[in-house]
Amino acid sequence: MSSVSRRQLLCSSSLGLAAALPDFALGAQFGEKGKSASLDLSQFEPRSMLHVKQTPVTRAKYPIVDVHTHLCFSRKSVAGVSLDPERKYLATPRELLEVMDGKNIAALINLTGGFGSGLEDAIAHFDKAHPGRFFTLTEPCYNRFLEPGYPRIQAEAIAQAQRAGAKGLKILKTLGLHLRENITTGKLVGVDDRRFDPMWDACGQLKMPVAMHVSDPVAFFTPTDRFNERFEELNNHPDWSYYGKDFPSNAEILAARDRMIARHPRTQFLLLHVGNFAEDLEFVSGTLDRFPNTSVETAARLNELGRQPRAARKFFEKYQDRIMIGTDAIPHAENYPQQVFGDKLYEIYVRFLETEDEYFDYAPAPIPPQGRWQIYGIGLPDEILKKVYYQNAERLFGLKIRTP
Ligand SMILES: [Zn+2]
Repeated sequence: MSSVSRRQLLCSSSLGLAAALPDFALGAQFGEKGKSASLDLSQFEPRSMLHVKQTPVTRAKYPIVDVHTHLCFSRKSVAGVSLDPERKYLATPRELLEVMDGKNIAALINLTGGFGSGLEDAIAHFDKAHPGRFFTLTEPCYNRFLEPGYPRIQAEAIAQAQRAGAKGLKILKTLGLHLRENITTGKLVGVDDRRFDPMWDACGQLKMPVAMHVSDPVAFFTPTDRFNERFEELNNHPDWSYYGKDFPSNAEILAARDRMIARHPRTQFLLLHVGNFAEDLEFVSGTLDRFPNTSVETAARLNELGRQPRAARKFFEKYQDRIMIGTDAIPHAENYPQQVFGDKLYEIYVRFLETEDEYFDYAPAPIPPQGRWQIYGIGLPDEILKKVYYQNAERLFGLKIRTP
């Protein structure tokens, strides 16, 4: 769809925007002749007048392994901590396969497989029902965190999950931002807490990669005010802000993560959301340089990568063996318009990676949900595309996908 014709903003917000446009540009409804008018930000829907190339991308050039999807979640979460092993399924395999076959998506990695009986159920539901098309990761059983001997219990749970068919371990931002000493109350548990050392070690010994999300966009750690570039998003979801209270800063969380990674050089860490700092690719490069046991993926960060296309292209060239495509796709996710699983989502990722199109939407929603800007494609060459699309994921997770 043309970026020129798209409705670009639907976000509601109360931040007034002083429009310094002449009267004739504002239309009859604004201001008196010769005076500037004010316009509510939620009403601002600029239509780009730019005429630029629009490459129709309907299908990925090579098969994709999407390393970051959520096809099911825990039935019960309290204060951001998933406690119930039982799974709530967000889509049927048939629904997913229809989109996958159309867009050349070979496989989806479902990160939130849970643990115990829920994990076994998720693997039966997806992986075993459609071999080679779905792979599932396990998650820590935080519901047992208060039991004596939790470090050993959790390490054993990793081995059990692998026997059940799990391909790795997923860490949600629970660790560092939600899990507390009494699970939902008390002091926050740090990402480098020693009680998880046996779990990280077990992952290394069993060759189970750890897909790790810690922290969040750096704007979520600053005040939700007129200077915040993600004001509308945070204004719509005040609970997404980690500013104030007893939350650590983004820098503190990433430093704790890096201390933990340094202690576990034999464990592979897939640092989700471009290492959780796509706003600072130099910082992410530093992490990748320091820790050869780390790699990154792209999920929900096209907004960041695509607004710095020259730096992003260099980043992909330099770390082409350690970057994977991930989307954070969630079927039917109204609260996450940038992540709704479907044709549009994949078309945007493919357009960003394969073309040099300029100034287009980074999300399938008719708004810029992660900030008011557009993105630019980085037009990767075929050899890098193949690595980012499936070869790096095959190597990390020990998979073999069917290629034509
Ligand atoms: Zn995710």
